[in-house]
Amino acid sequence: MAGFKLGIVRLGRACGKVKYALLDERDISLVENYAFETRVDIDRDGNGARIYVYIFDLQRGRSSGHYLHEFVWEKHCGEICAGWRVAHKNYITMDNRMENLILVPDAPPSSTPCIMTEPPGEPSNKSNREQSLYWLAVQQLHLDPFSEHFSEPVKHKFFNCDGEIVENEVLEDGCIYYECHYPPCTNMERHIREFSICGRCQEVRYCGAYCQQQDWPVHKLYCRERRRYQITERPPDR
Ligand SMILES: [Zn+2]
Ligand SMILES: [Zn+2]
Repeated sequence: MAGFKLGIVRLGRACGKVKYALLDERDISLVENYAFETRVDIDRDGNGARIYVYIFDLQRGRSSGHYLHEFVWEKHCGEICAGWRVAHKNYITMDNRMENLILVPDAPPSSTPCIMTEPPGEPSNKSNREQSLYWLAVQQLHLDPFSEHFSEPVKHKFFNCDGEIVENEVLEDGCIYYECHYPPCTNMERHIREFSICGRCQEVRYCGAYCQQQDWPVHKLYCRERRRYQITERPPDR
């Protein structure tokens, strides 16, 4: 691991939290010419949602954009042939190091759902997840809990069961599915309001007690502020 370097790019807010993308060192220079943002693909048939990294050429605008995992693959390995797609080996879609990308047949076997999501809080996955580079990297970021609550437009895509796009829309803070609020955790709700909400601030959601406890030292700052805000800004009888 000596001399090992990673790029971490701060993205916008999606599914209730600010997201970060992981890149190989050699791809960090992409940030000079490309804007990075999140894109939430929601499965209309109820198999959850996934957050992807979307980049576009600053000169040419958003319509020129690509999914980062596809862009990185084509940059280093050439064109993705029809019938194939790029997947994330460890299911962490924010981890776009070449080592984590793999080419797989486009049509998943009919027995698997359109969007594969790891079951939230699976004990068998937990130790793997916590040893992932993404988890370790994001855990070490010094996050500002206040900046995490800015509302930014979120791009949603809806897919039918054949993987075709049904509708595109931009929603203002249109979180439908929430991701666990603990920054390194990428567990995503598979149905609306699956995760429990913080009882104090009623703002953030966690996949389980473990993540809520881990996030508390940072989240308690915001949690308190929110309560003070409510007390001072709102009449008590409302
Ligand atoms: Zn709270
Ligand atoms: Zn979690």
